Amino acid sequence: MTVQKTLSILKPDVTRRNLTGKINAKIESAGLRIIAQKRLWLTRAQAEGFYAVHAERSFFNDLCEFMTTGPVVVQVLEGNDAVAAYRDIMGATNPANSAEGTIRKEFAESIEANSVHGSDSEENAANEIAYFFSQTEIVG
Ligand code: ADP
Ligand code: MG
Repeated sequence: MTVQKTLSILKPDVTRRNLTGKINAKIESAGLRIIAQKRLWLTRAQAEGFYAVHAERSFFNDLCEFMTTGPVVVQVLEGNDAVAAYRDIMGATNPANSAEGTIRKEFAESIEANSVHGSDSEENAANEIAYFFSQTEIVG
């Protein structure tokens, strides 16, 4: 096991339904520590930049639109194998396929409005963290 950091985003469907605390409780219950957190209203350019790897996907425009419909909460999570650990408690992208007890099973509204983002590799985590946070904002 290695201690890792990962980038989490609580998406606009979470802030709209006032579920920030409920999701944070699930994150902390899983042993992950929230070592940086801020609430932002992403610009279209910020959303497109963040999801640039998906630029060719059919859902890219709708996804960037959705991500700017309200505030998000961006977070850095730290813990043992944090990248995989967070992906585990997030559940599958499509909540119809998410396992019982996962965040998306419990809270996601749809495959698009699926409540949370989590980095999918340690390398991407480092890049995604740097996209939103400076080193001085991350307090482990
Ligand atoms: P994940 O967030 O599980 O890593 P992806 O990286 O594949 O999933 O997709 C990024 C985000 O794009 C998803 O979390 C979801 O909000 C949206 N998305 C993915 N697939 C679809 C789809 N088929 N239709 C609509 N939105 C989608
Ligand atoms: Mg992804």
